[in-house]
Formats: sequence, structure tokens, C-alpha cells
Amino acid sequence: MRKYAIALHAGAETVKREEVTKEQEKLYREGLEEALQAGSTVLEKGGSALDAVAAAIERMENNPLFNAGRGGSLNIHGETDFDAAIMDGRNLNSGSAGNVRYVKNPIRLAKEIMRNCKHSFLAGTGAEEFALAQGLELEKPSYFVTEEKLKAWHKSVLDEQQRKGHDTVGAVALDQDGNLAAGTSTGGLANRLKGRISDSPVIGGGTYANNPYCAVSCTGEGEVIMRGAIAHEVYAQIKYADERLQQAADQAITMHREFLKGDIGLIALNQQAEVAFAFNTNLMKRGYSIGGEKPKIALWNSEKL
Ligand code: ASP
Repeated sequence: MRKYAIALHAGAETVKREEVTKEQEKLYREGLEEALQAGSTVLEKGGSALDAVAAAIERMENNPLFNAGRGGSLNIHGETDFDAAIMDGRNLNSGSAGNVRYVKNPIRLAKEIMRNCKHSFLAGTGAEEFALAQGLELEKPSYFVTEEKLKAWHKSVLDEQQRKGHDTVGAVALDQDGNLAAGTSTGGLANRLKGRISDSPVIGGGTYANNPYCAVSCTGEGEVIMRGAIAHEVYAQIKYADERLQQAADQAITMHREFLKGDIGLIALNQQAEVAFAFNTNLMKRGYSIGGEKPKIALWNSEKL
């Protein structure tokens, strides 16, 4: 039996420590732990990395604390919409969904697109029609809007300021057959324009997996991440520059700094069950579990994992 592993993030951001209460910290840790357990259970039973990634992300989409599925950030019109992607490191298959408003679990839609659609990326009403045809669960917009995100939106309208709200979720997994997978799901940046699509569903931008090299999921400012093709950059550093996983992750975060200014965070995993975290913020909610061991979780950059 080969070693299996899963790592995940629930967003990287630069935030004053006093803005995150002890109670919130506790809930974040619990949410991460629950998602890690869900993914690990799939892997333990011999399930695929792809299913483990989807199971972990689905838990976080259902958790109103995170900016994916229920609890997503609101755009300038006060609406939620979602992006997600999943990628299979075994064969480079992928599925992406953008700007969907009614699909309860956007990561499921991404998986259905990967498995049952002749296209790799569907957005808007077309993606929702496809979700309907696949029998995925839908919800009305009010399901996704939490009081906390509504308050943040009201405040941002009054202050005319943009709160960043990076609680996007992502997961990378290695299964007992040695396959890697990556997935990312987001409610997007708060106060975004209608129609804006994030880096999360962009293959090579926010999500990438390629068996011999790595699986990567990113979080942070989508515009910067997609222009830097950050997830693909981790792969490129390993493949072409012969870097180790952690060095490759660090390089990807710091490259082209003069052009790519903004919050960036990522998680990466390889077939040797090595896990890497890299971020330029003071907070990245993150964790991992190898071989079903008790999950290790951290929030602040001062915490070692
Ligand atoms: N990357 C996401 C976006 O640009 C936000 C995040 O990671 O929190 O929408």
C-alpha cells in the first residue's frame, strides 16, 4: 500500500490579528479538520485523489464560514456567484465552472464537466443548464448569502472600500495508486464586477495537477495569480529547473514581483507525499494529513506545520 496524503487551504489574506476573534479561529480550525477528515477517509478506503479532493472541498463549500458555496462573497450588486475547477494528475483531464449562481456544490459541477462534457470549461447559464441535466442539487440565491457577508457588503457600499475576503478553498490529494489531483472553489473577491471570473477555475492559474510533478491549488488575488500562471509555475520550476517542491512553491510566489503585486498563497503536494505551503500574507488557513494521521492545522504565518 502506498502512502496517501491530502492538504488543503481555506484562503490566504493580510489581516490584522485582532480582526480575527478566538472563536473564529476555533471555527476555522474545526472546519479545516472536518474537511481533511472527509478527504482522508476517501483515501483510506482506496478511493481516488479526485474523489478525496471533491469530498474535502464539498465540506468547505457547505461550511458558511468559507468563501465557497454557502457563505460566498457578494459582488457589487450584492449577489453571490461561484467558480471551481478540478484536475486529474493522472491524465491531465480537467473540468472548470465559472460564474454559476444556483449550483449548491460548484466542485461537483466541475467534476461533472470533467467527466461528462465535451468541453473543459462552462460558465454562466450554460453551466447551470448542464448542472440541471446532470441532476446536481440547486439552491436559490438566498441559501448562499450569510448575514456576515451581507453585513460586509453593506459596509463596503457605505465606505466605498473593497474588503478582500480571501476565504477561497482548495485541496490537493495523493491516493494509494500514486495519483495526484487538485481542486479549488471560490465565491470570488468581495465587490467584484458582475461577470468577473477568478483564477480558481483557470487551469494553470489557480489549479493544476500533473502526476510526476505536483498538484497545486492557489488562493489570493485572482488577477495576479492568473497572470502569473502561478499553479503551472510550481510545476515548471520542478520540471524545468529541477527544484524541490517547497523551493518551487516559494519561487512561484515571489517571481515577477514588480508586476505581480498582491496576496498569493498556495498548497502543493507530490507523489512522494511531500507537502508545501507558500504565501506572502500573514494568514493562510491550511492543513494536511498524511497516511490518515491526525490532521495538522495552522492559520498564521508564525505557526509552523
Ligand atoms: N482567488 C480568489 C479570487 O480571485 C480569491 C481568494 O483566493 O480568496 O476570486
